[in-house]
Amino acid sequence: MAKSETGREAGAAGSAAAVGIPGPPAEGETALKPGAFAGQTVLVTGGGTGLGKAVAAEFARLGAAMVIASRRAEHLAAGASAMAELGAEVLAVACDIRDPEQIEALFDAAGERFGPGPPAVLVNNAAANFPVPADELSPNGWRAVVDITLNGTFFCCREFARRHLAAGTAGSIVNIGASYAWTGGPGFAHSAAAKAGVKSLTETLAVEWGPYGIGVNCLVPGLMPHEDMPEAIAANLSRSQELDARQPALRVGHPRELGWAATFLASPYGRFITGCTLVVDGANWQRRTLTNPPTETVRAQMGRPEPG
Ligand code: NAP
Repeated sequence: MAKSETGREAGAAGSAAAVGIPGPPAEGETALKPGAFAGQTVLVTGGGTGLGKAVAAEFARLGAAMVIASRRAEHLAAGASAMAELGAEVLAVACDIRDPEQIEALFDAAGERFGPGPPAVLVNNAAANFPVPADELSPNGWRAVVDITLNGTFFCCREFARRHLAAGTAGSIVNIGASYAWTGGPGFAHSAAAKAGVKSLTETLAVEWGPYGIGVNCLVPGLMPHEDMPEAIAANLSRSQELDARQPALRVGHPRELGWAATFLASPYGRFITGCTLVVDGANWQRRTLTNPPTETVRAQMGRPEPG
């Protein structure tokens, strides 16, 4: 039987034609021409782990000078060494994006290292998340996720735009969203609400800042497992068998596929795309079935006992 590029046998989803979306090009290939970001600085929040690190790597491969920002020293060190291995100049800065003063200091540090102007590209990737039934979500848990994912994203956008407006320079923002911005996300009330805010913010800021040459887009990853996934999220995933077969693409996404999309959106070739939310998920979020599977409570999905 024929095998697809991902090694599955044709017919895996019940039809001889169902081989899924082919696997991506190899790691190390770039979507744009070499040097596309040479001479430019790209700032990625949360760029030391998971998808943020994968996105940062694609900009680094294209010649960008990289600024990685997050809270933990070990994440910053991991991001810095990954960028250096790719031959990029890199600055890692400790920053909690909930605090506008720390963000100001981050942009100052980037300017001191790579030149006085603001970074050409800002990728707002940092976010917080954990699965929890909504009735058990504490006010602190709610506040922490909304504060990092929505408020932190806005504060970074604001600092980036203020500096570009003052300098009269153009720039590009890529916010990382999530598809439950449209659908809601049972088990993730805090993150879904915050990501809906990020999507809305993208649309507002694109219009406000378009006249000043700043493009603002949102990029939504599908299921892209990676080695840095927080334990609670990884544990949730490990309860589902056959992650590939559960996607219309018959495979999960690879973090570099998000990175290629980010480099395109932030490049001159994506300039006229702004205010847009682009989903990189193999059509998973549009998936519907003729008759839905039986309803399972969020607690059952999380392997937890029901109350009472
Ligand atoms: P992750 O591994 O949990 O990474 C989150 C990053 O954000 C970490 O590097 C963390 O670094 C940083 N961060 C958290 N709080 C911060 C704060 N207050 N200030 C500065 N940095 C902070 O997440 P991921 O799976 O790579 O996801 C990356 C993005 O994609 C997120 O926006 C996520 O919502 C979105 N997404 C992911 C998936 C997926 O399948 N993985 C699906 C949909 C959407 P420190 O701990 O060092 O601060």
